[in-house]
Amino acid sequence: MTACDHTSTTPLPNHNRGKLIIFSAPSGSGKSTIVQWLIHEHPEFNLSFSISCTSRQPRGAERDGIEYFFLTPEAFKEKIQADEFLEYEEVYENRFYGTLKSQVDKQTEAGENVIFDVDVKGGVNIKRFYGERALSIFIQPPSIEELRRRLEGRGTDAPEMIEQRLAKADYELTFASQFDHIVINDDLAKAQQETYELIKAFLKY
Ligand code: ADP
Ligand code: 5GP
Repeated sequence: MTACDHTSTTPLPNHNRGKLIIFSAPSGSGKSTIVQWLIHEHPEFNLSFSISCTSRQPRGAERDGIEYFFLTPEAFKEKIQADEFLEYEEVYENRFYGTLKSQVDKQTEAGENVIFDVDVKGGVNIKRFYGERALSIFIQPPSIEELRRRLEGRGTDAPEMIEQRLAKADYELTFASQFDHIVINDDLAKAQQETYELIKAFLKY
């Protein structure tokens, strides 16, 4: 199966709408932390979070329609059949994640710059699909040991889930060079500032 198999081939009509900013990284690298900081601290960027669909259960305080649209595996598969996804991936066994075309359309048509937190394949596919209209940023953890500390410290996943996430990290790191930029998230404030500068230049603020 190639990385393109799950990506829509029908371009969305482009009338000078919002742009797309993609963040990908191994789980635990800190991309949600950075994305949320950008949204809350930089309203001038007019960023709106791309709410994905997932077939996994809500984690911690997650709410339907805010962090994700939580679907049953059956409902997710129905949307695949109906060609409703811009892209989707089975990121972990039996756990699907995908971006709805209608969701991205709605946000960009409102003139918002859409910010994505997607897995590495989804990130590469969205960038390929939108080309110059998209900026793709890979958030790299300083080491796998630190990734483990962060996942354990976050305290939101059962031990076996943490192992699944770590088992995938080496593979995910091999995608880094396919992104427009790599930001190493060692010192959080420094990584936040770097992403801020990249987005500022991309949006020409
Ligand atoms: P991701 O969205 O990539 O899975 P998170 O943003 O949830 O990762 O971050 C994982 C954990 O690591 C969180 O508890 C977060 O507070 C912490 N974290 C993020 N960046 C750093 C950093 N630079 N140094 C230490 N801890 C961090
Ligand atoms: P989590 O379970 O930690 O919320 O997410 C697991 C992984 O799925 C993360 O790497 C996250 O970025 C990714 N993900 C979330 N939404 C999407 C999506 O719409 N498409 C793809 N391809 N990956 C996604």
